[in-house]
Amino acid sequence: MTAAAPAASPAPPQVLLAHHLRQLKLPTFLREYEKVAAEAAREGLDHVRFLLRLAELELIDRERRMVERRIRAARFPAVKSFDTFDFTAIPSLNKPLVLELARCEYIVAHDNVIALGNSGTGKTHACLALGLAACQRGFSVAFFTAAGLVHQLMEARDERRLLKLQAQLAAVKLLIVDELGYVPLSQTGAELLFEIFSQRHERGSTIVTSNLPFEEWTTVFGSQRLTGALLDRLTHHVHILELNGESYRLKQSKARRRRDPRPADEAIAAADPETGEITTAS
Ligand code: ADP
Ligand code: MG
Repeated sequence: MTAAAPAASPAPPQVLLAHHLRQLKLPTFLREYEKVAAEAAREGLDHVRFLLRLAELELIDRERRMVERRIRAARFPAVKSFDTFDFTAIPSLNKPLVLELARCEYIVAHDNVIALGNSGTGKTHACLALGLAACQRGFSVAFFTAAGLVHQLMEARDERRLLKLQAQLAAVKLLIVDELGYVPLSQTGAELLFEIFSQRHERGSTIVTSNLPFEEWTTVFGSQRLTGALLDRLTHHVHILELNGESYRLKQSKARRRRDPRPADEAIAAADPETGEITTAS
């Protein structure tokens, strides 16, 4: 028998508490408890109220962290909201419908949204804002361009992990497929995309944006039969947003030019010598 080791001095309670709170994943508790304890002492709060205040802080922080995590997971190309969306710029867009959609009940109902309109009319902005609203309300979101999604599906198929990617795409509460129509799809690409829409039908919401009216979707998918079947599923329970009008970017740059009507060559002379960027007439 070996001699008993000398008794270690017990760890101070703060060290143990910090350890336990980390184990329990209560970072806000850990960060705030000393401050809230001091407040509680000053205000004469009892222990229950002290704990309640800490628990509330933890909940608020946890919700915020989860929203941030969902936004990161969605892989938005930019974070945009309806706060910066000017509805007066696009009169064809049904504002009450958009605001209703921002409440996300369509996601609970597994409805789809299709935003149609020419380039620069705010389709991407609107679907990013709907995506953000969904993240804030607790739904998982994934954002892709149609070309990017097809590329990923083809790559997954070549690497024999298509089923896994399909399962991930089927599980997300809101799938956003932006820019359908700019690039025609190969037959395989069209079929893979069709399969995704098909798997999500009545199980999850999908937002699709396109610069093409429905009649022209055959040019993207090649086959009339496939386009028909796809439209059938996608438009079964659908809210359609029409964004037809002048390009917002074009309108803005025209307005800028009206404010600063320099001839083009002068504007070019004003270009940044390094980047070549023309600041007045973008
Ligand atoms: P689309 O996807 O229809 O081509 P975008 O959403 O990319 O158009 O819009 C082009 C640019 O103009 C973006 O920077 C977007 O934020 C802005 N934009 C478009 N419409 C509006 C609007 N109604 N209010 C505010 N910004 C807008
Ligand atoms: Mg766009």
